[in-house]
Amino acid sequence: MSARPIDGKDLSARVKADLRDRILRAGRPVRLDAVLASPDKGAALYAHNQAKTCAEVGIEYHLHELSAEASYEDVAGRVLLMNTDESVRAIMVHMPLPPAVDAERVQSLIAPEKDVEGVNPANIGNVVYGRRSLVPCTALAALEMIEHTGIELRGARAVVVGASNIVGKPIAVLLMRAEATVVSANKFTQGLPALCRDADIVVAAAGVAGLVKPEWIKPGAVVVDVGINRIKGADGRTTTVGDVDPAVAGVAGWLSPVPGGVGPMTVAMLLRNVVDAALR
Ligand code: NAD
Repeated sequence: MSARPIDGKDLSARVKADLRDRILRAGRPVRLDAVLASPDKGAALYAHNQAKTCAEVGIEYHLHELSAEASYEDVAGRVLLMNTDESVRAIMVHMPLPPAVDAERVQSLIAPEKDVEGVNPANIGNVVYGRRSLVPCTALAALEMIEHTGIELRGARAVVVGASNIVGKPIAVLLMRAEATVVSANKFTQGLPALCRDADIVVAAAGVAGLVKPEWIKPGAVVVDVGINRIKGADGRTTTVGDVDPAVAGVAGWLSPVPGGVGPMTVAMLLRNVVDAALR
């Protein structure tokens, strides 16, 4: 068997086309306000690319650049100003922040209805309650990709490998909300291969290259690979690989590729959260 790919590029292109239409139909400007106070060059590049992606769907992008030596008060003050500014409807804060700034404290200040990355604990709590809210983008991406396969979630057995607050746990909760039977695994989980072998759905979000092996997978299962790992090959070149061994494609029914899977879909889900927040 060769698994069907869950093509994140194609799915995200469809989501973006939909968003473009929604913005045109709404006839109102939609805007994302992002705070950048990072000593990391990668974050600046990411913000630059994000501006381009926003432009593609018709979202205005306002970047609030603070010094890479900004204090907690500087960053928090900017977020609080944005919370009360009625022209700001969608807020995100680029990571990493300067070392002296407590990122979680900053995230918990973002007004929940403007928190398009879903990082305020209030929004993570809302996911548990099933309330209409802004859900963390990677979790939304993983769920959309699973739903795309057409698998019946109610009663399905799912294993989510990785249990971080912003990725693994919200994915597990979204699957629970869909009435799947969910195992949340972490690095201390015993007997992980056997747990996965019993599952109709395996989501790998551990950050360990090639962790999930073909012999862990039930034939025909849906496998979503959230992992993004940069590894150096024998030729010295660095490549991006997922948490799933590529040989899993020989056993699974569906498999999301890395790159080109959850990554582009996460970007699309952020844009959808922006449009939802702005047009709410
Ligand atoms: P994290 O380090 O915060 O959490 C990792 C989790 O995996 C922890 O719960 C840990 O206990 C578990 N884990 C580690 N090794 C394990 C093992 N051998 N067996 C079982 N569980 C194990 O990481 P994170 O922020 O949740 O990210 C996870 C991965 O997803 C990373 O590769 C990250 O780059 C990627 N990621 C991708 C996207 C995307 O858009 N595709 C977005 C966010 C994160």
